[in-house]
Amino acid sequence: MRRLGQGRLLTAAVVATTAALIVFTVLQYRSSREAAEATGLRLADTLQMSLVNWHVDFERSLTGLTGTLDVQLAGVATPERVSAALRVWRRTARYPALVRQVLLYVPATGAGEAVPVSADGAPSGPVPLPPIALAPVTDASADPWLFHPAIPALTRQVGVGPDPRWLIVVIDRDVLGRALLPDLALRYFSGTDGLDYDVALFAGPGRALYASSPEFGASPAPDADGLLNVFGRRSSPRAAGPYEVFLAVPLKAGAPSPTVTWYPLPAGAPEADDWRLVVRHRRGGALGAFLANAQRRDLLTTLGALLLLVTSIALLVAASTRAQRLAQLQMSFVTAVSHELRTPLAVIGSAADNIARGVVHEASRLAEYGQVIGQQTRQLGSLVERILLFAGRTGGAPRPALRPLAVPDTIDATLSTIAELTGGAAFTVDRDIQPDLPPVLGDPTALAQCLENLLTNAVKYAGTERWIGVRAYTERTAAGAVEVCVDVSDRGLGIPAAERGRIFEPFYRGPAAIAAQIHGTGLGLALARSMAEMMDGTITVRSQPGQGSTFTLRLPAAPADRAHA
Ligand code: ADP
Repeated sequence: MRRLGQGRLLTAAVVATTAALIVFTVLQYRSSREAAEATGLRLADTLQMSLVNWHVDFERSLTGLTGTLDVQLAGVATPERVSAALRVWRRTARYPALVRQVLLYVPATGAGEAVPVSADGAPSGPVPLPPIALAPVTDASADPWLFHPAIPALTRQVGVGPDPRWLIVVIDRDVLGRALLPDLALRYFSGTDGLDYDVALFAGPGRALYASSPEFGASPAPDADGLLNVFGRRSSPRAAGPYEVFLAVPLKAGAPSPTVTWYPLPAGAPEADDWRLVVRHRRGGALGAFLANAQRRDLLTTLGALLLLVTSIALLVAASTRAQRLAQLQMSFVTAVSHELRTPLAVIGSAADNIARGVVHEASRLAEYGQVIGQQTRQLGSLVERILLFAGRTGGAPRPALRPLAVPDTIDATLSTIAELTGGAAFTVDRDIQPDLPPVLGDPTALAQCLENLLTNAVKYAGTERWIGVRAYTERTAAGAVEVCVDVSDRGLGIPAAERGRIFEPFYRGPAAIAAQIHGTGLGLALARSMAEMMDGTITVRSQPGQGSTFTLRLPAAPADRAHA
C-alpha cells in the first residue's frame, strides 16, 4: 500500500518536473528570441551611427581642404594665392598627399588648358584640361564646390561675371584607397579584435576603390547590412537619406535620417559613377544571419543543459527505483533465510528437548535422533556455506586454482547428498552419463555447489512428478573446443518466459515458488551461475511452464596435457 503511494508520488514528481522543464524551455526560447531582436535593433542603431560618423569624418578630410582654400583665397584666385593657400592647408592636413594636383583654369587666357599650381610656388606650363564639364554659374549663392566622381576632383568657380575662373583639385585615388579609407574603416567599423564589418567603397562601376577584403571588394554584396551614398544621392527612392541599414527598423523609427552636408555632384552626372560605401557584418555573415546563428547557439546550449538535467533526473529515478527494488529483494531475502533457519532449528531444538527430558532412552531411538540432528545441522551448514560463498563472490574473492575434475564423481556425490534431502521420498533419478566423458578444469567446491543448487532446485520444483534427469555428455563449440555439458531436468512447475531472464539475479524468487511456499533464499541460481563463470563455464535454461525445466551447465574440457583427474 505504502509502496503504491510512493510509486504514485514518484510518477507525479516526474510529470511535474517534465511539465516544468517544458514551460522553462518555451520561456527560455521566447526570451532568447526577444534578446536576439533587441540585439538586432541595437546593432542596427549602432551601425547607422557608425555610418554617419564615418561620413562626417570623410567629409572633414575634404572640407579641411576646401575651407582653407575658401578662406585663404577670399574670392581672388591667382596662382600665388592658391599656392600660399595650399601651403597653409598642408601644414595641418592629416593626409597632405590627398591632393594630387591643383589646376587653375582661366577660360579667358587659354581655353582647354589649365595652369598647375604647386604648394612650393614653382611655375609650370599649362596642361590640358581634364575631361570635366565646367558650366559657369551666375548666381553667387550656388553651391561653391562640386564633386566629380569619375576623376575624382573637386571644382569651384571663383568669381562670377565676365571673367569666371575655376579651381580644380584632383584627389589622389591611391592615398584615398591606401591611407584615408582604411583608417576610417578601422576607426568606425572595428571591435575589440579587428574589423567587425567588411567595408568597401565602390567609386563608380568595377572593383572597389577600397575594400577590407579582396572578395568583398569584387562587387557590392547583395546581403549588405548598410549602404551609404557618399556624395549625396539617395540609394533608393524609398530611403529617407543616403544611409540605409537593412537589418531592422532603427529604434527611432519614423525619425528623419541624420542630416548630412555633402559635395553636390554636377548636374547630369551619371548614377553609375556614384560612390557607395557598403558594409556587412563579418562574424557569421550578414547581421541577420549572425543573429540567427547566435540565437540558435543560445537555444542549443539551453537545450543541451535541459537535456543534461532530464538525463540526470532519469538516472536519479532509475537509481532510486533500483535501490528500492534491491531493498525489497533484500528484505525478502532476510525473510527467506529466517524461514530456512526456522525448520531445522525447530527440529534440532525439539529433538534436544526430548533427549534432555528423557523422553527417548532406547539406544536405537537415540541413534535416530542423532541422525536427524546431524542431517538438519548439515542442511544449516550448507545454507550458511551458500550465503558465505555468495558474499565471497560478490566481494571479489580471488579465483581458486583450477584442476582436472571427473564430473561423474561429483554428480554421484551430489546425488547422494540430495537423497538425504528427499528424505527417502520416492524420486526417480534418470542418470545418463556418457562413458568416456573427459574431465573438466574446475574447482571441486564450485562444481559441487553448482550441481547441488541445480539438483536441489530440481527436487524442490519437481511438483508431483518426482522425477529428476541428469545427463552428462560432450559437445563441440563453434570454435571447435570440447565442452562437458550436464543437463539437470525436472517435470515440475516450469518457468514462464518472462521470468527466465530474472531467475539468475541474486535474491530473486519466482511468484509461483513463493505462492507454493517452497523454501528458498533466491541465491541458488545466482551462486551456481557465478561458480560456473568462475570456471569459465555457463549455465542456461530451457523450460515449458507446467511441464518442467532443463538447466544446462557447460564447462570446458581439460586440455589433454592436464587431463589427469
Ligand atoms: P530459490 O530456489 O532459493 O528460490 P534460486 O536462485 O535457486 O532460488 O531460484 C530462483 C527462482 O528460479 C526460484 O525462486 C524459482 O522461481 C525459479 N526456479 C529455479 N529452479 C527452478 C526449477 N527447476 N523449476 C522451476 N522454477 C525454478
